[in-house]
Amino acid sequence: FRRAPLDTDALIQKLLQGDIPSLSKAITLIESTNTMHQQQAHQIIQSCLPYANKSVRIGITGVPGVGKSTFIEAFGTYLTAIGKKVAVLAIDPSSSISRGSILGDKTRMEDLVKNKNAFIRPSASGKSLGGVSRKTRESIILCEACGFDTVLIETVGVGQSETAVHSMTDFFLLLNLAGAGDELQGIKRGIMEMADAVIINKADGDNLERARNAKLDINRALHLFPLKDSKWQPKVLLASAFYNQGIEEVWQLLENYFSLTKENGYFENNRNNQNAYWLKETINEQLLLNFYQNNVIADALSQEEKAVQNNEKSPFVAASELLALYAKITTGI
Ligand code: GDP
Repeated sequence: FRRAPLDTDALIQKLLQGDIPSLSKAITLIESTNTMHQQQAHQIIQSCLPYANKSVRIGITGVPGVGKSTFIEAFGTYLTAIGKKVAVLAIDPSSSISRGSILGDKTRMEDLVKNKNAFIRPSASGKSLGGVSRKTRESIILCEACGFDTVLIETVGVGQSETAVHSMTDFFLLLNLAGAGDELQGIKRGIMEMADAVIINKADGDNLERARNAKLDINRALHLFPLKDSKWQPKVLLASAFYNQGIEEVWQLLENYFSLTKENGYFENNRNNQNAYWLKETINEQLLLNFYQNNVIADALSQEEKAVQNNEKSPFVAASELLALYAKITTGI
């Protein structure tokens, strides 16, 4: 039994008409390591590109348990109620390290999953964060071409993945908790500095007073950072994703941000810079992959590694020899 070959043109046509199964199929091709699938994926992305770019891309981060899933369920549902089409993608660093997944559990988005105007895709898997990020970025293009005008990209605020999300989104939202110190929340100063808004979630019940105090503290901290290139002053809001409170205010804030940055040119400029950044990132990743996957290099590398470990050769000499060998292999000279 052989499956009929995939009709890429037909898939592209359906995807552009908003067909969600075709979108899913196309993302599966992006995620595949099979060479033919990758070629098909490139063709699809290339055809979709003219129809992409017409959305807002919102990054959402925060430590496990802060309420990302609950927030996305509430926020996504609100957005579809005001006529938006919402795609939710995730970058999950854990899936590239182990098979376990911090973001894998989408059961808390049970309404959004069933919503016709929403599309939820769990994290791509892959060996490296770079690979997973690239796939997510390509998936954004496909979602936009399929008619999704609001793309939410979720990640856990621990590690490098939030930097990747920051570099593929227009707005960066940090979910925080009141009470727990920054260290406890694993929040690095760098993440706070990237944030365009900090939402203090679980601002309900006994927690409300603490959340109000945290709002003042974080506001003060945010004002200490230099003004962003976007000229946007980051804001702090309270929300209770669980009780569906403060959700509309988040969207209003985002609209203010988009009107400011579209007017002052930052929005478009930032996207153009992001494209250039991803060009280089992709090259870096591809070069690394090609280098380490090359059999001749792999053999030479293991020998050089021994020599370096035994102090017979300096790491710099060994590296330049390996790179020279690689250049010889790839240019054939
Ligand atoms: P994630 O790991 O960041 O995706 O967090 P979840 O959305 O899975 O939420 C973790 C826990 O916090 C769940 O038990 C939620 O029901 C709860 N939770 C999320 N948002 C709120 C909120 O606004 N208020 C309260 N009280 N609990 C919340």
